[in-house]
Amino acid sequence: MNNKINYLTRTILHYFDKAICPSCQSKDCKVIDRKYLVSRLFECNNCHLYFRHPVDSIETNKEFYQEDYQQKGEGITTDIPDRITLEKLKENNFAGTSKNIQHYVSLFKQLIPNKTIKIIDFGANWGYQSFQFKNAGFEVSSYEISVPRAAMGKKLLNVEIHTRVEELSANNDIFFSSHVIEHLPDIPYMINLAKDKLNENGIFIAECPNGSKEFRAKNPKAFNLCWGLLHPNYISADYYQYMFKNNPYYITSTPINVEDILNWDRKTQVCKNLSGDQLVVFAFINQNNTP
Ligand SMILES: [Zn+2]
Repeated sequence: MNNKINYLTRTILHYFDKAICPSCQSKDCKVIDRKYLVSRLFECNNCHLYFRHPVDSIETNKEFYQEDYQQKGEGITTDIPDRITLEKLKENNFAGTSKNIQHYVSLFKQLIPNKTIKIIDFGANWGYQSFQFKNAGFEVSSYEISVPRAAMGKKLLNVEIHTRVEELSANNDIFFSSHVIEHLPDIPYMINLAKDKLNENGIFIAECPNGSKEFRAKNPKAFNLCWGLLHPNYISADYYQYMFKNNPYYITSTPINVEDILNWDRKTQVCKNLSGDQLVVFAFINQNNTP
């Protein structure tokens, strides 16, 4: 509750601050949505990032995610389960929970067959995804901004989670993030890090709430609920198209059409089915696309 009051106070105090895009620093931005009268979502007319105003500083953001971060109704994202529940989760490899990512494990194995997949789990929280990747035989290098949560991962799931990006391994096949990009104060930093940590054929894969126009047209109420204190950014296909304008990409939303992705030539730029809840991007960010 305190977080919400602080957030609204900050929003009011900074209401008249000039909106500057946190991704490309353009001042050419327009209001595209509002809530609580004073809280506004802007669209950058240059890169098409949607961001709430005021933006957070990098320091505020880092501090917030150490301890304050709790998502209501999100179950085990931020709440650590008790010992008995945890043993069951481990035994079942998180099957039947919202943290089960076997659909991604299976997709990644099909995308990169016949080799041990090297993957970065960026924004690993307390490691429930890294745990499953490890069980699938992947070589996992994990990063989490919150020091206490990274320590929990080690303690509860025996996964090594780094809290400094310098410690992440190089030459990876996949840079994966799930529900991370919408929280970041500096998205280009993450994308540049991914470029650095991926090999030549490495794929940047991110899942986040879908801010695309097609989703908004279909679910205007859900669109309005998806940004705010916890989600300072709202990512759309337009933003990814700008950020990856020189790279091959496949942008879609859930449910993912696995067969269609596997048939993609990996050289061109594809956007398909953008009205689902979650936006998912696959981008070969160390390669140039063919027109
Ligand atoms: Zn911008």
